Amino acid sequence: MKQKQVIVIGAGFGGVRAALDLSKNPELSVTIIDQYPYHSVHGQLYEVATSPTELTAMPELKRSVELPLLQIFKNSPVKIVTAKVVDIKFASKTVIVDKPYSYDYLVCALGSQPNFFSIPGASEHAWHFSSGYDALKIRGEIESTIALAKNNLRKKDVQIVIAGGGVAGVEVAAELHGMLNYLSWRENYPRHKIVTTLIDRSEAMLSMFPKEVQEIAHQRLEELGVVLDTGVSIESISKHELQTSDGVKEFDVLIWAAGVRANPLPTSESVSVKKGDRVEVDAQFKLVGQPDVFVLGDQCARAEDGGVNPLPGTASQAIRQAKYVATAIKALAKNQQPPLFTCQSLPYIIPLGPKWAIFYSKRKVVKGYLGYLIRQVVWFKYYISILGFTKGIHWLLRTSELFKRND
Ligand SMILES: Cc1cc2nc3c(=O)[nH]c(=O)nc-3n(C[C@H](O)[C@H](O)[C@H](O)COP(=O)(O)OP(=O)(O)OC[C@H]3O[C@@H](n4cnc5c(N)ncnc54)[C@H](O)[C@@H]3O)c2cc1C
Repeated sequence: MKQKQVIVIGAGFGGVRAALDLSKNPELSVTIIDQYPYHSVHGQLYEVATSPTELTAMPELKRSVELPLLQIFKNSPVKIVTAKVVDIKFASKTVIVDKPYSYDYLVCALGSQPNFFSIPGASEHAWHFSSGYDALKIRGEIESTIALAKNNLRKKDVQIVIAGGGVAGVEVAAELHGMLNYLSWRENYPRHKIVTTLIDRSEAMLSMFPKEVQEIAHQRLEELGVVLDTGVSIESISKHELQTSDGVKEFDVLIWAAGVRANPLPTSESVSVKKGDRVEVDAQFKLVGQPDVFVLGDQCARAEDGGVNPLPGTASQAIRQAKYVATAIKALAKNQQPPLFTCQSLPYIIPLGPKWAIFYSKRKVVKGYLGYLIRQVVWFKYYISILGFTKGIHWLLRTSELFKRND
């Protein structure tokens, strides 16, 4: 029987899982297309940005968050194309890269990018985490700022400001602690003159979580010396100055963690999008009006069952959706009815500094070292799921060894 062609665009958390699962079906021929030859492990980017230069070499760090696709798909029949997708033509069922690729089914998982909410100056003056390269640039900026400040001790404090007190913001604020201690010692620069401030417009950090989680996070961040500036909106940004609802605030390094918006679907055809530019899909993740095209992960606006809010943009949600979409395509290829997808609220793990994390699920909140151990188990399971047992262990040990150097 002739194999059906499945193209997966985007080799992130969702795309990799979808391609691996689809490739187990001999009736499908699977091709994955990404602009990079690796899978970027976003959850570890903060570790990269907060590892001082002498302790971990740049190539070593970059490799730790960029898993080669050749390694992931080594034992599977998935074909890899490294190129940027420039157009999708739904009528002719083709994806345009360097040349057209035809599909019977298309899975889009192109992820998201920072959302600057049209705040003037934000994209020019703030650093953000989208890749290993961005994380290394942030590291370089912090190191050089403190090195320069030591030549001018009369200068006011070094101000590192993080915009956005969601999961990303609190994590980076806490992770910086170890690196700043180290840099203060290395540069012989007083630690109390390096200030980390977290700004959020809500009245609490982690405003989307229950009060119990917020209080744990507030206490932990304060123990780490992070200044919490809540109820403050950023209105505009110029070089080294924030105009806020609470007046002007100076900064030396500004890190943007205030939210993301979906990457656009690269097509000249009209696509309906919702809040955060997320693409409208039906209950089975099919692009509205295109029964052979699925969109998942950060890029899609699949609403929670019986609700209006989109499913959270997390790696675990993207993976779960990818597993479902792979099952749905396998059923469709056999002319069967796909099963229904049921939304689930998945646990969160919020790392807050060296060997410390909050694990939050609807039933349980765990904090401290135990939370960190749960996080390690989750990463271990993830690496095994895409690399196999031996390579998975190897990768976890390698990254754990690297990242503990900044603790
Ligand atoms: C710094 C950071 C830390 C995070 N930490 C966590 C965490 O601890 N836990 C958690 O659950 N979630 C975390 N997230 C969120 C999580 O990473 C995302 O929800 C998840 O990556 C979404 O998966 P995805 O498959 O939709 O997209 P992604 O994983 O972002 O993958 C998108 C892929 O599409 C490719 N691509 C984009 N445009 C094109 C194009 N035109 N042509 C070809 N390829 C293209 C990209 O190169 C990328 O490989 C974090 C995100 C960031 C940025």
